[in-house]
Amino acid sequence: MNYKLLDYYWIILDGSRIGFYNLLDAKYELLLKLDNKIIQNIFLALNQPFEFKDFPEKEQLIIRKILKQYHNYFEEITYEKLVEERLKHRRIDDFIETNHHAFSINIQGIKALLKETINNTSYCFITNSNLFNLDLFLGYSTKQINFDSLNLDTVDSVDTTFIVDSQSLTENQLADFEKYCVTHNVIRMYVKEDKESIVIGPTLIGEEFGCLFCGEQSTIHLYHIKGESTFTSLVNSLVFTELLKIGRKVISALIDDNTITKGKYMKISKYNLEAEEYEVNANVTCKLCDCVFN
Ligand SMILES: [Zn+2]
Repeated sequence: MNYKLLDYYWIILDGSRIGFYNLLDAKYELLLKLDNKIIQNIFLALNQPFEFKDFPEKEQLIIRKILKQYHNYFEEITYEKLVEERLKHRRIDDFIETNHHAFSINIQGIKALLKETINNTSYCFITNSNLFNLDLFLGYSTKQINFDSLNLDTVDSVDTTFIVDSQSLTENQLADFEKYCVTHNVIRMYVKEDKESIVIGPTLIGEEFGCLFCGEQSTIHLYHIKGESTFTSLVNSLVFTELLKIGRKVISALIDDNTITKGKYMKISKYNLEAEEYEVNANVTCKLCDCVFN
């Protein structure tokens, strides 16, 4: 049989106490005084989705007792769900391995934050050319949608993070989308690839860095000849490395900004792979922001 800890909990060792931390209420729901290190470690192992045969027989007995006593915090899952959940946790572990130094909270806190982010964030890829390779992003909740099919009235603007293929949208579509984003505090990342270069970013957060029409430099996404986009594996993997970082709570918890797109963008030449980084800033004379806020 396979089990997982419910989506909104994380088990934390706090001194000599084991706590069931509620990710939504951001507080412990249950604290158990436990001095036995072996039992403590078993509790912590149950953060990962599991099947009984993952554990030695002695531990299986203890786990059965835990499941019986704290059944409100766990659910039985199918094998398919187990595989899916394991992938999510692998995403979290891989992310922590390379990014833990960018946070001021401890590893357990980062894991809790990432679990909440990966479970709650819906990544919406806006493109009229369907060139994102969503197979790469397994483990995340993703969808690819044509701009005309996107109904912004039904979007959960807090928990949706957008990745926009700017090349495939018209300037009017980008302007409509930006008006919505700056007024609804939306997180969106722009991506573009053409024959010569890849542009990854900027990631804009509501009006924090202005809109796509603000900075002169952001015009890189606007004033170009609209044509066929070509998304290579490089652009997809650059998007992949940014995905968890631009989740709403993660991006604000990063004390060391190790993103390549938060309030900035990177232009990479496809001839020699030389990369240049540019910052973007709100512009007080921006016509789009002016008509939205005044
Ligand atoms: Zn603007």
